[in-house]
Amino acid sequence: MIALADGNNFYCSCERVFNPTLEGVPVVVLSNNDGCVVARSEEAKALGFEMGTPEFQARELIETHGVRVFSSNYTLYGDMSRRMMELLTASAPATEIYSIDECFLDYTGMADPEEHARRTREQVRQWLGLPICIGIAATKTLAKAANKLAKHNGGVVMITADNTEEWLTKLPLDKLWGIGRAHDRRLRARGFRTAWDFHQADPAWVRKHMGVVGERMVRELQGIACLSLEEVQPDRQNVCCAKSFGTRLTELRDIEEALANYVNTSAGRVRARCCSSASAPLRLPNSSETGSQPMLDQRPAIRSYPHVRCLTFRPAPAALFVRPLHTGLPS
Ligand SMILES: [Mg+2]
Repeated sequence: MIALADGNNFYCSCERVFNPTLEGVPVVVLSNNDGCVVARSEEAKALGFEMGTPEFQARELIETHGVRVFSSNYTLYGDMSRRMMELLTASAPATEIYSIDECFLDYTGMADPEEHARRTREQVRQWLGLPICIGIAATKTLAKAANKLAKHNGGVVMITADNTEEWLTKLPLDKLWGIGRAHDRRLRARGFRTAWDFHQADPAWVRKHMGVVGERMVRELQGIACLSLEEVQPDRQNVCCAKSFGTRLTELRDIEEALANYVNTSAGRVRARCCSSASAPLRLPNSSETGSQPMLDQRPAIRSYPHVRCLTFRPAPAALFVRPLHTGLPS
C-alpha cells in the first residue's frame, strides 16, 4: 500500500502555529510581492476566495469579512516543511517527498495501515501543530484521491478493492490527480462526472484522447500500479533563497546583512546536496527600474563579494540564486 500525507492549507496552517489568534478566522496568504492569493484557510474558502485571485480583486471581500492577510514567508514554510518531512520519513521504511507539503509513504506489508496513519497524523499535529490528512491505497493516483476524500472524512481514508466504487463516486472528476481543465471539459462532455466514471472508462478511448498518460491514470485508478515511489530526488539545477523586504533597503550595510543570511542559507542547501562549489548571480533592483534614488552602487557590492560571479539588475526582490557546479563531497 502507498500513503500520501498532505498538509492542510499548509501556508495558512504554518502562520497559525505561531499566532493562535488566527484559529477559526479566515486567513489568506499572498504570493511574492503580494500579487495574488496562494493559500486559504477553510474559513476563507467558505467565503469564496479562489486560488490565484489578484489581491486587488479580493480586497473588498477581505475588508468586508475582516480576513487576516499575510505576505508569503517561504523561510517559515520551508522550515516547517523540513520538520514535517523528518517526522514523515521516520514513519515509513521508504518515502518520496513530492512537494513542500506532500509526501508519499510506503505502507507495504503494514498490519493496520489506517491505525498507523492516524498515529502519524496525531504526532505531526502534537509535535508541530500542523494539521495533515493521509490517504492510503494500492497506487499513487488512488492514494492522492483518498487524500482528497480524507479532508472531509476524518483525516484518514483508505481505499481498498472492496470500497473503491463507494469512495470514487464521492470524488468529483476535477479533483483527480492529473485532470486539468481541458481534460475535465472533454470528459464532462462525454458524461463523466466522478472519479468512478473515469475508472469505468474504455481504455482505448482514453488512450486515443488522452494518450498513454490518461490510460495510465485509469489503470492506477483500477489499482494497477504504474507509478513507483521515487526515493531519490532528481538533482536540482538551482538553489534559490529569496524574500521580499518589508521596507525598501537603501543602505549597503542592510543589504549586506540580508545577503549574508541568504548566502548562509543557500550554502547550507548546496552542502546538503553534496556540491563542492557554486556560482551565484545576485539580483537587486537598480535605480532606473525602481524610478528612485540609486539603491546601491554595484561596484562596492562586487568588491565585497568577489565570489559572486555576476550581478544582474532586475526590478525584483533581492535574491540569491546558487547554481551548483560540481557534484561530489566537499574536499
Ligand atoms: Mg496541502
